[in-house]
Amino acid sequence: MATDILTMTFDEILGIVTSLGFPAFRAKQLYQWLNKGASFDEMNNLPRAFKEALTENGYIVDLPKIERKLVSQIDGTVKLLYSLSDGQYIESVVMKYEHGNTICVSCQAGCRMGCKFCASTLRGLTRNLTPSEIIGQIFMAQKSIGERISNIVMMGIGEPLDNYDNVIKFLRTVNREEGLNIGYRHISLSTCGVVDGIKKLEKEMLPITLSISLHNIDTKGRKSIMPITNKWSVEELLSACAEYFKATGRRISF
Ligand code: SF4
Repeated sequence: MATDILTMTFDEILGIVTSLGFPAFRAKQLYQWLNKGASFDEMNNLPRAFKEALTENGYIVDLPKIERKLVSQIDGTVKLLYSLSDGQYIESVVMKYEHGNTICVSCQAGCRMGCKFCASTLRGLTRNLTPSEIIGQIFMAQKSIGERISNIVMMGIGEPLDNYDNVIKFLRTVNREEGLNIGYRHISLSTCGVVDGIKKLEKEMLPITLSISLHNIDTKGRKSIMPITNKWSVEELLSACAEYFKATGRRISF
């Protein structure tokens, strides 16, 4: 089975490179390329034998492929449709603001949360995206628009707290100074109200902005449009938010 190395740490890359019998400086070069979202073909200072050894041993860089790009005539907003290596399709949107470019990324192919107003859930959840498939949307979008992306909102397809471990790895990777270097304060994570995920996230102590997709403050009314409310009432959700704010000091948006 192939191993995607795009979001690996330097120590993990070093371990692979030395186990294949190559000198440590190749790990540094490879790591620099990975943090730019480069494919093996684009890594032009790495010898072919090195790249072949990586692929022969099942190490890949699995970037999403842009299938379609739509640009708004009104405000330059860019909508990108990507295909993944197993044929799934996901989308992201890049919005241009005075303070920089913001990308809205997807974290799952489909979604199982069943919100009545959302097209992403119509076919349920197909699968979670890997950390590489989430960060890959940003690398590919940057290449496509030729500009840096400085802000992230996790409000695309999928529920981030339903793909918890991969989303946390993604957040830590985008924050790397040697990589995209996007500050946590420039990242918003939106949830439909996965209370146990909010409690877990609180302990990560990541200074991101938590956004709650609330839609209705009445438990009964919310149940009719957001089935997650059958598991956690509005009261339980707001109580988890209060605890989150108390523990992290981070503002929550609703
Ligand atoms: S959690 Fe988000 S993506 Fe999933 S159904 Fe609700 S609104 Fe749609």
